[in-house]
Amino acid sequence: MDKEKNYILRKIPRVDDLLKEEGIRKLCAVYGKKEVLQAVREELDCLRKRILAEAEEGGIGKANSRMKEDAVCEKLLSAERITEQTACRLEENSALSLRKVFNATGIILHTNLGRAPLGKSQMAAVLDAMSGYSNLEYNLSEGRRGKRWEHYTGLISRITGSEGAIAVNNNAAAVTLILSTLARGKEVIVSRGELIEIGGRFRVPEVMEQSGAILRETGCTNRTRISDYERAITENTGALLKVHTSNYRILGFTEEVSVEELSSLGRKYHLPVIVDLGSGVLVNLEKFGLSHEPTVQEVLKKGADMVCFSGDKLLGGPQAGIIAGKQSYIKAMENHPLMRAFRLDKCTIAALAATFREYLNEEKACENIPVLKMLSRSEEELEAQAREVAWDLSSRNKEDEITVEKSISMLGGGSMPLEEIPSRAVVIKPKRESAEEFVHRLAALPVPIIAHIKNNRVILDMRTISEEELNDFKSYLAGACENRTHPGRC
Ligand SMILES: *Cc1c(COP(=O)(O)O)cnc(C)c1O
Repeated sequence: MDKEKNYILRKIPRVDDLLKEEGIRKLCAVYGKKEVLQAVREELDCLRKRILAEAEEGGIGKANSRMKEDAVCEKLLSAERITEQTACRLEENSALSLRKVFNATGIILHTNLGRAPLGKSQMAAVLDAMSGYSNLEYNLSEGRRGKRWEHYTGLISRITGSEGAIAVNNNAAAVTLILSTLARGKEVIVSRGELIEIGGRFRVPEVMEQSGAILRETGCTNRTRISDYERAITENTGALLKVHTSNYRILGFTEEVSVEELSSLGRKYHLPVIVDLGSGVLVNLEKFGLSHEPTVQEVLKKGADMVCFSGDKLLGGPQAGIIAGKQSYIKAMENHPLMRAFRLDKCTIAALAATFREYLNEEKACENIPVLKMLSRSEEELEAQAREVAWDLSSRNKEDEITVEKSISMLGGGSMPLEEIPSRAVVIKPKRESAEEFVHRLAALPVPIIAHIKNNRVILDMRTISEEELNDFKSYLAGACENRTHPGRC
């Protein structure tokens, strides 16, 4: 038996010989010799194991087995095949882990899928800022050193109506910076109904502790009145904080204090009033058929001194935390040591400024910012897109059950969790495999498709598949249906 095994193993080509092959030499020019050598060794290792396993299964050493063994070897051990497999291996090894996916979940701000995608004008600004030098901290008109935030603060103030603005890495950093600047070592009064966890370990009490402020809870989970805040004020109070509970609702016997009431209390006691809005809404969402969300402009108009919100939630921009409000507080934050750690890089600054620029014209914003565009797509439009995908797929795939059905899109990212947005989906019930297996294969595509399963069927929601990516989406989807029998590599 060992003799038979050796007979087979001797047929495996030697590494040195393979390296002389034309195809392998070409791979060396692309990937470098070291990487290619490693990949060839891995491939041969795999082949060795596979051949022995197959030979054993086929009854190694039995009469006539040599012929079978020769056939197996011939199939697997040609230099062409090894070169091909090595090329695949190298391509896989060098693929970047972070890459584009199709979001067919219908969840617009899917945190696991990168929240807000950027549009053309936003991307163009990023490319421009990062592909060469830029005037990031250089004032061109005065020929002197400038401030990096000068590229976006004016725009934010113009659009939100604030005195001043500054932006940091994300909204969690924004809350930390505000509290650390205004209330370090002092008490910050918050309603017990607003001590929320956002996810990703953002918990209001813990963020407060990190910033050096002392949490002073007031009121009850379901009801907090303005008198509760007033009673909690002491000499050591540093600020009044209101957190917009964007990711959950308390229903029934409830009462919360309005921004107006809190602001007049703050003025009476000379205390800054801070509002953590979470999602940064700048337009009235009712025009998309959603319920009203307080906009940044409204909150400032109602008297808040400081409001902070995310760049990559409903605003539809890059990951950032934006702070808008009183100029004196903004100045204090600009000079805070944490600002150096939290400040934005040039790509984010470019994307953020380009995002706010779109809001100068609300109609343009709804057209050019993908998050708003997805929100504004009509059911008729989604129905037509779903039919197009379903028709295309049915024409190439007679096997599975493919239908177009009503579905529900969500905002996601912890924003407005009760809001259901009517949408359309292509629904696939695979015949020869389970829905799980199919979804798994969709996720393994060169550009993965991320989809939900419901009642053993795969739901592909159309709201989050844009017109621009539709053709690619269709061909990858068809590929997944056609490649059912594609053998896996060893
Ligand atoms: C999402 C959210 C945050 C955290 O914002 P990130 O930009 O994700 O850091 C903080 N507060 C509220 C109320 C939020 O909704």
